[in-house]
Amino acid sequence: MSATHSHDLMIRIIGLRKTYELGGENRVHALAGVDLEVTNGSYIAIMGPSGSGKSTMLNLLGCLDRPTSGAYFLGDEDVARMSDDQLSEVRGRRIGFIFQSYNLIAQLTVLENIQVPLFYQGKDLRQYHEHCEKMADLVGLSDRLHHRPNQLSGGQQQRVAIARSLVNDPLMILADEPTGNLDSKTGKEVLDIISELNRQGKTIVLVTHDDKVAARAHRIIHMKDGLIDREVVNRPAPTSRPSTRGPGTGALSAATVQPLNP
Ligand code: ADP
Ligand code: MG
Repeated sequence: MSATHSHDLMIRIIGLRKTYELGGENRVHALAGVDLEVTNGSYIAIMGPSGSGKSTMLNLLGCLDRPTSGAYFLGDEDVARMSDDQLSEVRGRRIGFIFQSYNLIAQLTVLENIQVPLFYQGKDLRQYHEHCEKMADLVGLSDRLHHRPNQLSGGQQQRVAIARSLVNDPLMILADEPTGNLDSKTGKEVLDIISELNRQGKTIVLVTHDDKVAARAHRIIHMKDGLIDREVVNRPAPTSRPSTRGPGTGALSAATVQPLNP
């Protein structure tokens, strides 16, 4: 038995493997049997050379893909065994995504981009107008609601992506090189928002090549050849989800993350 009670664990993975079949005898063991536990409210950075399995790991954690074998419990749900429909339901309900290239839809406004996860969940968007405006406000984009992505700076586009990742009030946010396309000052602003979300209790798993980015995490997981090679603990992770939320420290100080509740 683990020393940690299972209800304090956001992620528990055991012997996780992902093998890509390339035809004939050719296969790639992108994940070769990974064990990992992540407590609620932790901030984890994943590092490692190109091809070491970081994106594969994030895709599996995000229920975008299924492992070849092994177990993955997200909270108390065994997602490794779920159908595609169940996976997308879990994804929509529990997970927010932030990507290096923002992945906004060019034809949609800021507000409409923020609504996209709700649309995929089949929600009546009219009921969420105010909620989505709050999400935009949270990342400082209240005055850009009707702009389109090509009318925004890179940092503003990434802030739209953060607001979009929050719209379902996810328990966990996954970020693949979220500052990779940003200059250092703008990148720092985006990281400040992510740190503040973590402070408010969101579990964060972030892939990065940058030591300065990783330094913000509680733990740094170094991957190599589809395995966890070593782990560095920067600072203690919370032992359970914080029950009280103090005032903010700058970014996001105007509002706390609102639960989805019309
Ligand atoms: P990283 O994000 O650390 O650069 P990836 O997780 O993208 O690494 O890839 C891990 C390994 O799996 C690499 O050798 C890569 O070529 C291989 N790989 C990733 N995705 C696929 C795929 N869809 N089909 C075949 N091989 C893949
Ligand atoms: Mg990658």
